[in-house]
Amino acid sequence: MAIKTDGLHHVTAIGGNPRRNVDFYARTLGLRLVKTTVNFDDPGVYHLYYGDAEGTPGTLMTLFPWDGVTPGRHGTGQATTTSFSVPELSLGWWEEHLKRVGVESTRNGSPGEEALTFLDPDGLRLSLVAHPQGDPRDPWDTPLVPAEYAIRGLHSVTMQVAKEDASADMLTDGLGLRFVGEHGDRLRFAAGDGGPGTLVDVLVTPNAPRGLVAGGTVHHVAWRVPDDATQRAWRDELIDRGMNVTEILDRRYFHSIYFREPGGTLFEVATDDIGFDVDEPLLELGRALKLPPWLEPRRDQIQNALPRLNLPTENNPEAQRV
Ligand code: ZN
Repeated sequence: MAIKTDGLHHVTAIGGNPRRNVDFYARTLGLRLVKTTVNFDDPGVYHLYYGDAEGTPGTLMTLFPWDGVTPGRHGTGQATTTSFSVPELSLGWWEEHLKRVGVESTRNGSPGEEALTFLDPDGLRLSLVAHPQGDPRDPWDTPLVPAEYAIRGLHSVTMQVAKEDASADMLTDGLGLRFVGEHGDRLRFAAGDGGPGTLVDVLVTPNAPRGLVAGGTVHHVAWRVPDDATQRAWRDELIDRGMNVTEILDRRYFHSIYFREPGGTLFEVATDDIGFDVDEPLLELGRALKLPPWLEPRRDQIQNALPRLNLPTENNPEAQRV
């Protein structure tokens, strides 16, 4: 029997200037910076994780912010919009809030599902969506983005493809999602309970240019798996389907495998266990540069090569929120 994911684990994108990145995601969007680390495959670049208070799977947006990065191109073979879930009556507040910090936004969405779409400072397309059934997840509360309006976690991703069939098959047969509806040129698939954080929209654009993954684009979309044993079984199933899957990689806060779905988007399957308090207390998440044990011997060299961030500290816990 095919394994089923419970929904999105995280979305990882490529950004530009790291300070501007923290400003935007932690201050403007009001997410918690739950881990400050480096790209384990390229420790010259930060890897910043944003999410709810604990960095719960399904609330996580992660960025590789790279000063002077070459801009990418939105197009097929990519996740072209990352959507966050917000309370139904908060969109007006968000529109004003974004305007105050100079971010232009557009109201869109579909009947029964209002949305507000805008770009991050590096051109990554983001959307805030009010799920009609609400969202029970607890938000991170900040002075700039009070809890009543705050982001609850991921809502969905939009994957842009030239042809729908192979990608749709991968989502249903390979990941265990189900087709739940069609709106214009979008097909919606859902995992688990079908609530916010379980959804993917496949946008079929046969004539659009192929996307180029670089600055301002999504690098990969990660799906949830409960534990190592299920991940191992899932990896075997994907290999049986003919997919080229990586070894199981130790990402410190979860274990991961990666493969490219037939439409071109890079997928990851990440475990729900471990978590962000494995190397620092919950109260202090994100305040200091954390490195995995195998990079710790190179800490001085790595730290000196990275640009400084305006991170919250013990003496200044609000720095992230100013
Ligand atoms: Zn990832």
